[in-house]
Amino acid sequence: MKHIVIVGAGQAGLQAAETLRAGGFDAPITLLGEEAHLPYHRPPLSKAWLAGSLGADQLAMRTAAALERKQIAVRTGTKVVSIDTAGQSVALADGSRLGYSGLLLATGATPRTLPCAAAATGAVRVLRSRDDADAISARLAHCAQRGLPLIVVGGGFIGLEVAATARQLGVAVTILEAAPRLLERVLAQSLSDWYARLHLGHGARVVLNARISGIEAAADDTVEVHLADGRVFPAGLVLVGIGVDANDALARDAGIECASGIVVDAHGRTSAPGVTAAGDCTIRRLDNGELLRLESVQNAVEQGRAAASTLLGLDRPFSGTPWFWSDQHGRKLQIAGLSRGADGWTVRGDMQGDGFSVFHFRGARLIAVDSIDAARDHLVARKLLAAGASPTPAQAADLTLDLATLIDGA
Ligand SMILES: Cc1cc2nc3c(=O)[nH]c(=O)nc-3n(C[C@H](O)[C@H](O)[C@H](O)COP(=O)(O)OP(=O)(O)OC[C@H]3O[C@@H](n4cnc5c(N)ncnc54)[C@H](O)[C@@H]3O)c2cc1C
Repeated sequence: MKHIVIVGAGQAGLQAAETLRAGGFDAPITLLGEEAHLPYHRPPLSKAWLAGSLGADQLAMRTAAALERKQIAVRTGTKVVSIDTAGQSVALADGSRLGYSGLLLATGATPRTLPCAAAATGAVRVLRSRDDADAISARLAHCAQRGLPLIVVGGGFIGLEVAATARQLGVAVTILEAAPRLLERVLAQSLSDWYARLHLGHGARVVLNARISGIEAAADDTVEVHLADGRVFPAGLVLVGIGVDANDALARDAGIECASGIVVDAHGRTSAPGVTAAGDCTIRRLDNGELLRLESVQNAVEQGRAAASTLLGLDRPFSGTPWFWSDQHGRKLQIAGLSRGADGWTVRGDMQGDGFSVFHFRGARLIAVDSIDAARDHLVARKLLAAGASPTPAQAADLTLDLATLIDGA
């Protein structure tokens, strides 16, 4: 009997289920989710949801009624513990088994933690799920009430977004980053500096080259973060935002090829016939053999579509330009392309002004554009990158030139 099982009721899992239905799949679809909630949007968890300005109905991706109309059976609170690829079934934590004709793994990722005894106090937290966000929210309210600071460990997107939201809620914030600059893995130095100024301007402390030697429980329901150089930072809450690991254990245990993520091709195919994967749990093998790991809504959506199409027997690989966004202190960053490997860059607009974009080049080729409050630049950049069209650095910086005019000539 035809039955598609999707493990992970998040962004990629729901996308895949809806793509299957839209593509005419008329047999049962079961979406298995470990969390207690129906699929919801994760990006607001560090932004509007944490700030208390978003309702639960807006956080949810679909209502129960909408899922029922599409005949997508979502089983919340249901953890898959193993996969039998030969017998085509998954085992659930309650001991039961579920057979499938096609399987899609969309298990997401788990935040890395810092092993410390103080974790037991509840004052050291990571942020991935709605339950994490709700616990952080309660703790931030406690900090605001008692005048206790938040220490953010890790100056990446999630840490910085939580830092911005906490400032908005009136909480004192210190950001501890191990690297010499914020967002080192993803942004050029110029934008790292811009972000440091943004957070300093909103009253946060930013400590770079910070080596943490321990986090200790302290008196009065507080904790202390110790640096290797002897400095100590007391806190009411420590948010650890030091990256995530792909949830690939189920696949690995089933003998499916993994390499810091489930290895998939552009069609979402894994090394096991009939098993596909999508989203943060994957790492994609590109045509040149390189492995690319992305953690973003766009990647989850596009890979969810591609993997579902494969299960439908269609040939619709994911080949789009990667894009991403982040909101901090009312400023919107939009990234198009991947800037790693860039050897030159130029700025369009004024970095001290309302909006600007940083264009990244490898040789003469445009490879990525990071835009701050410059939505049009971002949209044009996506089109330029998709078309393989490159302005010269001088053209990119020339505000009198409409860069969209370069696309036809590509
Ligand atoms: C706080 C926060 C802010 C973010 N902000 C942005 C942003 O601004 N822009 C952007 O592009 N991206 C952002 N992201 C990243 C984006 O949300 C993720 O890339 C996206 O959610 C990945 O989708 P996914 O379906 O792969 O994984 P998820 O959405 O994490 O879904 C995976 C689901 O699988 C479940 N699961 C795992 N193992 C099992 C199992 N064995 N059995 C059953 N269920 C299982 C998990 O519980 C989870 O619910 C943010 C993420 C977070 C956490």
